[in-house]
Amino acid sequence: MGDPYASSFANANGAGAKAGKTRNIVEKMEESGKNCVIFYGSQTGTAEDYASRLAKEGKSRYGLETMVADLEEYDFDNLDTFPEDKVAMFVLATYGEGEPTDNAVDFYEFITGEEPSFSNSNDPPLGNLTYVAFGLGNNTYEHYNSMVRNVNKALEKLGAHRVGEAGEGDDGAGTMEEDFLAWKDPMWAALAEKMGLEEREAVYEPIFGIVERDNLTKDSSEVYLGEPNKMHLEGSAKGPFNAHNPYIAPIAESKELFNVKDRNCLHLEVDISGSNLTYQTGDHIAVWPTNPGQEVDDMLDILDLQDKRDAVISVKALEPTAKVPFPTPTTFDAIIRYHLEICAPVSRQFLGTLAAFAPDEDAKTEMIKLGSDKDYFHDKISKYHYNISRTLSVVSGGKKWPSVPFSAFIEGLNKLQPRYYSISSSSLVQPKKISITAVVENQLIPGRSDAFKGVATNYLLALKQKQNGDANPEPFGLTYELMGPRNKYDGIHVPVHVRHSNFKLPSDPSKPIILIGPGTGVAPMRGFVQERVKQAESGENVGKTILFFGCRKRTEDFMYESEWEEYKKVLGDKFELVTAFSREGAKKVYVQHRLKERAKEINELLQNKAYIYVCGDAANMAREVNTVLGQIIAKERGVSETKGEEIVKNMRAANQYQEDVW
Ligand code: FAD
Repeated sequence: MGDPYASSFANANGAGAKAGKTRNIVEKMEESGKNCVIFYGSQTGTAEDYASRLAKEGKSRYGLETMVADLEEYDFDNLDTFPEDKVAMFVLATYGEGEPTDNAVDFYEFITGEEPSFSNSNDPPLGNLTYVAFGLGNNTYEHYNSMVRNVNKALEKLGAHRVGEAGEGDDGAGTMEEDFLAWKDPMWAALAEKMGLEEREAVYEPIFGIVERDNLTKDSSEVYLGEPNKMHLEGSAKGPFNAHNPYIAPIAESKELFNVKDRNCLHLEVDISGSNLTYQTGDHIAVWPTNPGQEVDDMLDILDLQDKRDAVISVKALEPTAKVPFPTPTTFDAIIRYHLEICAPVSRQFLGTLAAFAPDEDAKTEMIKLGSDKDYFHDKISKYHYNISRTLSVVSGGKKWPSVPFSAFIEGLNKLQPRYYSISSSSLVQPKKISITAVVENQLIPGRSDAFKGVATNYLLALKQKQNGDANPEPFGLTYELMGPRNKYDGIHVPVHVRHSNFKLPSDPSKPIILIGPGTGVAPMRGFVQERVKQAESGENVGKTILFFGCRKRTEDFMYESEWEEYKKVLGDKFELVTAFSREGAKKVYVQHRLKERAKEINELLQNKAYIYVCGDAANMAREVNTVLGQIIAKERGVSETKGEEIVKNMRAANQYQEDVW
């Protein structure tokens, strides 16, 4: 007999959850009594989180019967039968170069296709559909919020009726959460009017039930201590390894790339030979991090769960359309350490939800104020990069919060997300070993006594320290369960999967390439240069390869300095490294300045069909490179700047100009 409390997530890929499940959303809503579905297209979990929040709010404030739906799990050819008295919401993130997120690809292609074919021949096809839409984007990318814009356009064209504005959140400006909050209230008001909904006082209604399993201990074999799925629990993890099923990969080698105190950049070699994982040069590897011990302790502490950290619980969805985001039975410790994004920025809306459970009246008043006053929230919380446990502690003056239902955290915090890294090796050179080049996040925040530290990169730093002889590594005072659940990561292992990308060398190696990769943006460029070295060694005719690299100082953070010299020995004149050290002279010099200095040559290379690649900082560098290229083309070809910009745009469209930016 299976565990009656176990969630269906226990199977890898959630396969159990999907078995026999309908892909017909209209049917699904009918059978589960829902009148509002919130679809999400999510890559890093934020869109999914917003979808859940809309579902909760719709239910608690307006009495809607809501459900959240992964776009990937439904078909859309029967959207034309969507009942008039129900509403569909679309929360859609735009990924990379204006692409849909992985789970939204099929939906996007269908709905924006020439003539989506629906089950009936209504005219217009979606005349019955009422919808609302919110997009998550980043204005530093050329195709800002193109998902929500294009889907909205397509739905309008098909005759659907939007309620409220099609909202747009901007991660580039750092205002995503505020944009979402500012969008949703007028949307709710408009929807309430349209559907005749009455607003009521929102009370917290759990979506997940927590059941203590007194008959089990953390040593019971069926208890998940952080294992991502059943195969991992049973010690038989096998492929396919993917975003639901990581490979626990040995780290073959790790080292530091910087020569400066308190700034770290890691080079790791991840061995995938024991798996059927493959990669191509230019792909991304995802690292599944573990939260730092101190943060896990602080979270348990503020919730007064220290004594119960190893108590075994099952988490059960209280309604049929909700999904428990991790396998159970498990422990509080495992949930907090392996499954929840406890260090992330705090959602202002979530604080409003938690106010009802504050330990005293002052804390409650403060939480309500933080939840409703954007500027106050900024001044007290987000300015300092406080996470949830720190926020609760600051608000209550250190008093514990034992009354908050734990389910609120499962619902209100994001799932702990894998972090992506641009693979810095060539698959031609080392098909079974993936290199990572990662700068460790460690920032001083004015007004905060301790530094802010990134989750995944400090975890990787601890692994590197352990591998290099430190038995109890504590990077910047942090400790990690490096051995993983049941010591399954013993011997320096890290859970990973590979994500294929479109950032690819031209298939013809004789084409010239211009690589622009300052800082860790050099990662995929290293892979590209390695690949060309290998091709040259095999007697292929390799085109000119020019790499623009920038960092602060030659002596501090000049990554792979000696490697470039080795590559030069093989490639000779075919390879050139152009450096920009921003903190060496009186004036700051960046890669885009170097590009300008070489305007004539860059233009000639582009006219000879050179491919150009940009990797790294999306907010400033990639934008400026884009502008500078337009200017170079304008000047060298004697055309207007507008024409120069247009040529750059066309190069992008033709894949001659590729970006891998974050
Ligand atoms: P996190 O803990 O995720 O923090 C990251 C940032 O989030 C912080 O700097 C801060 O701005 C914000 N943040 C987090 N918590 C809070 C809080 N409580 N309050 C306010 N702000 C907060 N990085 C590389 O070094 N090398 C690469 O090759 C590379 N390639 C990438 C490729 C892709 C496609 C993408 C999407 C990203 C890539 N990155 C790369 C970035 C990488 O994925 C991680 O984002 C980075 O390493 C930081 O991860 P972390 O877990 O250490 O930091």
